[in-house]
Amino acid sequence: MSLKFQIHHTKGSARRATLTLPHGAVETPAFMPVGTQGTVKAVPQHLLEELDVRILLGNTYHLYLRPGHEAIRRMGGLHRFMSWDRPILTDSGGFQVFSLSELRKVTEEGVSFRSHIDGSSHFFSPEHSMDVQIALGSDIAMAFDECTEHPADFARARGSLDVTLRWAKRSKEHFEKHKHERSWDGRAQSSELRTQAQRSAVSDQRSELRLDGQAPSLFGIVQGGMFPELRRECAERLVEMDFPGYAIGGLSVGEPRELTREMIATTLPLLPAGKPRYVMGVGYPDEIAEYAGMGVDMMDCVLPTRAARHGLLFTSEGRLNIKNRQYAEDQNPPDPNCNCLVCRRYSRAYLRHLMVAQESLSSVLNTLHNLAFYLETMRKVREEIAESA
Ligand SMILES: [Zn+2]
Repeated sequence: MSLKFQIHHTKGSARRATLTLPHGAVETPAFMPVGTQGTVKAVPQHLLEELDVRILLGNTYHLYLRPGHEAIRRMGGLHRFMSWDRPILTDSGGFQVFSLSELRKVTEEGVSFRSHIDGSSHFFSPEHSMDVQIALGSDIAMAFDECTEHPADFARARGSLDVTLRWAKRSKEHFEKHKHERSWDGRAQSSELRTQAQRSAVSDQRSELRLDGQAPSLFGIVQGGMFPELRRECAERLVEMDFPGYAIGGLSVGEPRELTREMIATTLPLLPAGKPRYVMGVGYPDEIAEYAGMGVDMMDCVLPTRAARHGLLFTSEGRLNIKNRQYAEDQNPPDPNCNCLVCRRYSRAYLRHLMVAQESLSSVLNTLHNLAFYLETMRKVREEIAESA
């Protein structure tokens, strides 16, 4: 069994469930921190474990360009490379490639683009995206889709939807054929590179047992721009293809929040109730709580980590810009209602000082608190769903 989704409680449309993947269990609804380049910026893996992060997101586009998916395969896969033995979800690379609007060209076969690092030429097809994600060794891979820019007119969204459906089919066919080539097989070979102490530290033997015979799972992605009828059609056609889980993509691309909510509300009831449902790239703390309440099981967003590096902290009392002069001698913790390792130990005054002095520790501490706040937001949502039962 490579993916198991057990729903324990429901409250209205919301569900409290356990998603079991090859590298471990994830309590849902879950927020997934983004580890773009094999790292959640500014936070080492042992602190992510301490925050009780159960699943991370990795970016296929970035890891493909640097250090390269074949290099990561040779090193035993992304889990081993970054010393993270809990689940990883990888995106398809589509979103990043389509963000390079100046540098790309789309055909039926795939997308050619130039690297943002050195301008070199590359080509991504659904098959290639699957190969890269299998080489990285993620627990959940995403189908290669065409993300529609916002705003897009109906014809553009319609065309993009058709491409996405054809690519979803190609993604699935290729993935099913090759998923057992996932890089976990490289374990035995690359373990020679590690000392005994390192091996026991990441408890490899336990992982090897658990991983035996398991394979990653592929999720389909619902597109359709901001048109409910296209969202519906895309969802229905993807459900016919029978993916083990479904994502709603192409949201939070600059549209008003009511529209994001409307697209989610339109799509969710069309996705199978017994399978995980993932909304990509959202959102603010109140948004993720709201969407979880609507029946979304998984979400990811760069917001808590990116905002932290700019000094924006999310707290139970609202947003706090730690750079503000008013915190210069404020001895209170960043959030008096937060029990994270930053709030237990440091003052607003100290965090402001680190930020103003441009110390690296500023990003570390701000990010830790914001992630703790997001994870706590989801923990409370899960608790509320369980209590209502
Ligand atoms: Zn805190």
